[in-house]
Amino acid sequence: MLVLKFGGTSVGSISNMVNVKNIINDGQKKIVVLSAMSGTTNALVVISEHLKLGNTTEALSQINALNEQYSKTVKELLHKPHLVEETNNYVTAIFNDLSAITKEFYTELVHNTIVAKGELLSTFIFSRYLVQEAINAQLLPALDFMRIDKNGEPDNFYIKQNLNRILKHTTPSDIYVTQGFISLDSEGDISNLKRGGSDYTATIIGAALKAEEVQIWTDIDGFHNNDPRCVENTKAISNLSFDESAELAYFGAKILHPQTVMPVRAFNIPVRLKNTMSPESYGTLITNKIHGEGIKAIAAKDAITAIKIKSERMLQAHGFLKTVFEIFERYETAIDMITTSEVAVSLTIDDDRNLEAITQALEKVAKVEVDRFMSIICLVGNSIIYHQDTPNLFQVLQDVNVRMISYGGSHNNISLLVNTSDKIETLKKLHRYVFEDSKEIAKLKADCVLS
Ligand code: ASP
Ligand code: MG
Repeated sequence: MLVLKFGGTSVGSISNMVNVKNIINDGQKKIVVLSAMSGTTNALVVISEHLKLGNTTEALSQINALNEQYSKTVKELLHKPHLVEETNNYVTAIFNDLSAITKEFYTELVHNTIVAKGELLSTFIFSRYLVQEAINAQLLPALDFMRIDKNGEPDNFYIKQNLNRILKHTTPSDIYVTQGFISLDSEGDISNLKRGGSDYTATIIGAALKAEEVQIWTDIDGFHNNDPRCVENTKAISNLSFDESAELAYFGAKILHPQTVMPVRAFNIPVRLKNTMSPESYGTLITNKIHGEGIKAIAAKDAITAIKIKSERMLQAHGFLKTVFEIFERYETAIDMITTSEVAVSLTIDDDRNLEAITQALEKVAKVEVDRFMSIICLVGNSIIYHQDTPNLFQVLQDVNVRMISYGGSHNNISLLVNTSDKIETLKKLHRYVFEDSKEIAKLKADCVLS
């Protein structure tokens, strides 16, 4: 069995849906995981925000606008009368639900119910389209098997049992279409795997079924060696290890949800990133194999907050770091980077929801300085900390105000913290040095990057 996930752009227009149909219609048995059509989840979040603020009229007008957009899509995509009728009824029911929700008291469950509608719509419409095209396909509702536990982690046992049971008892099909992103929570209420979570759905399903391969189809031909939004002439990387891709996804490469490779890595199920708009491109293949040495990619993660905690009490004292970490633990806030000196420790967080409470607690034991609008720049590649070119990197960064450096935490990652206003310049400088100037690294590039 294969698992193929298609992102919002891939199902975001009629012509792209036709492309997806052509890609999946090859006779191989597969599960197709879909995101919402591009823009829909954002629109649903806006509707939810309006309701949170009590702007019911505005929410209703946005619901109507979205409804019109979907009616148009159905009209353009489907022509067989019974499928048109069935799909219109479904779309109407979804929008009636949304209108009804505007009268309810706003809770997190209301929010989760609203944002789930995007994937419910895209999968219903697309599966009806496959049926219209005489493809042996059926819809597999994700809420019949996807569940997360109290910590928001996938309940793998439940998922595996239920998915396998459903597949065993349903009429066999070539293609099973299901929703990415949405899930039940431990109480059985509707929830989700957080924004961008459809990638994660695909690998969770891949692991549950011990799939041959998980493919993530998006609108770019794989992981690039730098951020294409900031730097020109970036190139797709043909091979990455699970570790390298996990670092890149975590530290800002937007192509993949940060947790994507986790479920499949233990079973060594390959993850292939492919471009729906250019299916012939190789993309990126992520496996447990290590290809080449040295820096393969650079990525950046914005909206980072740096916290400097300074205390004379640190001097030759034990237990200080424990106190600091306990405060972050208490506010369930993950630390990304950390550096220490004799009297201070600097660390970064990207979730600043509890920043004020954390700062207040820290101020009881130390002096605290907070810097916002920082970016982590992450260099990734197998054994980069040992690579002969790596020390020269610091020459390249001479004029950049680097606030923190993390070197040696793992042998395939070096992270730098800079002001977000310096990010693009830093990415460009590093790109020039790593991928354009150095002969040594140019050789590496030839080995592991397809142009
Ligand atoms: N539709 C959801 C989002 O926009 C999930 C996904 O696309 O992966 O975040
Ligand atoms: Mg995505």
